[in-house]
Amino acid sequence: MSVTTQSAGVVSFEQAYKTVLEYCRQITPPPAEDVPLLEALGRVLAAPVLADRDFPPFPRATRDGYALRAADLKTTPATLRVSGQVKAGAAYAGQVPLGEAVEIMTGAAVPQGADTVVMVEYTSLRNGSAQSEAEVEVEIQRSAVAGENIVPAGAEARAGQEILSPGMRLGPAQIAMAAGAGKARISVYRRPRVAILPTGDELVEVAETPGPHQIRNSNSYSLAAQVMVWGGEPMRLPVAPDEESKLITLIQAGLSADMLLLSGGVSMGKFDLVEQALKSLGAEFFFTGALIQPGRPVVFGEVKVQRRRVPFFGLPGNPISTMVTFDLFARPVLEALGGAVPARLPSAKARLRKAVKTKTGLTRFLPAILEGGLDDPEVEAIAWQGSGDLLASARANCYLVVPADRDSIAAGEMVTVVMRA
Ligand code: AMP
Ligand code: MG
Repeated sequence: MSVTTQSAGVVSFEQAYKTVLEYCRQITPPPAEDVPLLEALGRVLAAPVLADRDFPPFPRATRDGYALRAADLKTTPATLRVSGQVKAGAAYAGQVPLGEAVEIMTGAAVPQGADTVVMVEYTSLRNGSAQSEAEVEVEIQRSAVAGENIVPAGAEARAGQEILSPGMRLGPAQIAMAAGAGKARISVYRRPRVAILPTGDELVEVAETPGPHQIRNSNSYSLAAQVMVWGGEPMRLPVAPDEESKLITLIQAGLSADMLLLSGGVSMGKFDLVEQALKSLGAEFFFTGALIQPGRPVVFGEVKVQRRRVPFFGLPGNPISTMVTFDLFARPVLEALGGAVPARLPSAKARLRKAVKTKTGLTRFLPAILEGGLDDPEVEAIAWQGSGDLLASARANCYLVVPADRDSIAAGEMVTVVMRA
């Protein structure tokens, strides 16, 4: 990749993010497979879905009421003969006669001749019910314009039109659209496999009882969960000790996947061996740090394995750093590997509830709670014990962004938050 050499080193958040997005652009999507529609939830569409007919297929009444001609309501109230009834799913034979009305239900096809639907609330039946055999009249109290309470045939989409495009992630609304177009099965991209390699002599697996100076390997779980949320298939490798040859062996195992995520071992400590191990495997580094907090030591690069190019991220081991750097940098690459157009950072503006004091130089992504109503969302940073504080992370629903040039933000100021999945 051409951006690589000039941006290697420690870069600003903006530069790091730009490098990631540029990398994403040259990723080719994986092969596709056909799956039953509901199994496609959360996956990425691989082939366009076309409207199999007009949407709606007929002029659709959006209200219960009377289908008639607007021209018959020149003076109101107007009394019209009710010449029949049409319900959803039924066809009305013939035209609505001049000066007459047809009782109609929501979702029914508006009969020919009628150009408007008057809501039942603005009408009253004169004698009997529309269903009875007897002559029935309806009094219409309000005038109407042509087209009211009718969605014309094809107004939403025309037959043959592309209604879902490759690269879209399929959520409930897209699944509904595909169902409406008759897609019982649908073509989606294969999930990318993501190897997860935790490093550190202090780590024990979750089911083990840690010794007094040991820590449970929670990062493999946060990362596997994040990978799953963003459409990947996690492949959890055993913990790599802080010992180069064993680390290299496990990295090699991880390079069989479509992407490799390492946690820990990227700081400046004596036993932080990840960069060195990757270098010995011929890795190319796109950046080796970002001016952010938490997550400054984050590393991004690529290793060529025969014909394949496998991107990797060396994520700092502190649990919040690991999660933040995944959200900021690894998530777009995972999305692109899954054939999706990476979503931009899901950000919003909110009012800061409590002043924040910090230092300039790093863009900060502080665990925070966003809450409030529609009008005035408020955000507050969570008091934390630094980037290892799992509990603070578990309580947060977003990151409060403090720009690199700000050392304080006053309560009441509008700030940017980045939502987390
Ligand atoms: P490192 O990035 O290797 O210097 O680790 C930084 C901190 O994160 C240390 O306190 C580690 O114990 C902790 N840590 C590293 N890896 C993990 C992990 N897989 N799960 C939980 N904590 C970790
Ligand atoms: Mg370590």
